[in-house]
Amino acid sequence: MIDIAIVGGGPSGNRAAMHLSREMDVTVFEEHASVGAPVQCAGLISPRAVCERTRDSVRNEIRRFVLHSPGGRELSLHSRDVRGVVIDREAYDRALSEAAEKNGASVRLSCRVSDVKPADDCVKLLLKGEKGREEISARIVVAADGPQSAVRPLVTEKPFDITYRGAQYVVKSDSQEDQVEMWIGRKIAPGFFAWKIPAGEEVRIGLCTCGKTPPMKLLDKLMRSKFGEVKIIRKQAGLIPIGPIGRLSEGRIALLGDAGGQTKPVTGGGIFLGKRAAEILADCLLSFGNTMSALRKYELSYTDQFEREISRAMLIRRILNDLPDKKIDRAVELLSSPDIVEILEDSGDIDYPGSISAAILRKAPRLIQFAPSLLKHLLVH
Ligand SMILES: Cc1cc2nc3c(=O)[nH]c(=O)nc-3n(C[C@H](O)[C@H](O)[C@H](O)COP(=O)(O)OP(=O)(O)OC[C@H]3O[C@@H](n4cnc5c(N)ncnc54)[C@H](O)[C@@H]3O)c2cc1C
Repeated sequence: MIDIAIVGGGPSGNRAAMHLSREMDVTVFEEHASVGAPVQCAGLISPRAVCERTRDSVRNEIRRFVLHSPGGRELSLHSRDVRGVVIDREAYDRALSEAAEKNGASVRLSCRVSDVKPADDCVKLLLKGEKGREEISARIVVAADGPQSAVRPLVTEKPFDITYRGAQYVVKSDSQEDQVEMWIGRKIAPGFFAWKIPAGEEVRIGLCTCGKTPPMKLLDKLMRSKFGEVKIIRKQAGLIPIGPIGRLSEGRIALLGDAGGQTKPVTGGGIFLGKRAAEILADCLLSFGNTMSALRKYELSYTDQFEREISRAMLIRRILNDLPDKKIDRAVELLSSPDIVEILEDSGDIDYPGSISAAILRKAPRLIQFAPSLLKHLLVH
């Protein structure tokens, strides 16, 4: 019997393994033959989502953001400090996996967990891998198996609020720019936004949507209209689950990362929240042992730390999704006033967009006209 079985060797699962394996017997099960591939990520994270182990995966530092409104208005921000870093996702995940192995974790690749069955004092896992079929038991199962988690229904039946479909093209580049560009609007990326992220020797251009048109089709349209003839070196696609914080544990099973909906509702980023959740989970298990009550403490502590920010960000996401393009143009115009730009440049934070929303609304109360009841809520909460 192992102490902790981690289903999924993405950043969240590997980070939990890295911390837990210092004191516990941990095995990570990953269905792919190598960690970090295939990449389904734009790789833009805040500097706080990088640690000593993952520093070498950083390919660029971002100080400038430009938001293009549907009608062609621009909101340009230039911060003195680095506000985002662009990582090589494969290298990032691999660094965490290697650190976990160094601390004593076993990482079993090409090994799919095909069934998980709670039992009296353990959880049984059915594996399909190079050794054929096997059954093993673990005291605790951490489901870090991504947006399509097959373990999640054992913890909660509640579906995610939104599941975004994303597509991204990687294009060769020799530009040294430190500017991320974003496009918002119903014709470009219904329900989300499109991005251009410089990543050293490459540029990542992509978008997500919750509309009916497939994201690749929207992306092809964007490429034709904004980028013309470029050489695409890789095509990537994936899902982003978004939702308020729900149940994160049941019995001996905990949800972690995308499997637990631990993504940011405004930007869709999941690496920072997956990191913090893995740290909280590891702290609870190391402090209270491999017990069900440690998992309850994880759920309570994560909720306590992130509920306010996630519910504010969810509100902003709902408002953005409801606004017609013309109103977005007007909102971007209001946000471009010098005193708001100053707030965004000084205090903007891609991990906590909700926390400065009240300051912005106080400076530009005319923004409240776009969604009076919801935005007033942001002012008081
Ligand atoms: C287009 C796109 C762009 C994105 N851009 C960003 C960004 O710029 N910044 C950011 O922070 N986030 C971004 N994200 C989100 C980010 O990629 C995820 O939040 C992050 O990968 C979640 O990590 P995770 O470890 O929870 O899950 P995952 O990375 O999905 O890892 C789960 C792993 O579990 C494996 N697995 C699943 N089921 C099983 C099973 N039964 N047995 C064994 N293994 C299994 C999967 O193969 C996978 O390797 C983006 C997502 C998409 C789709």
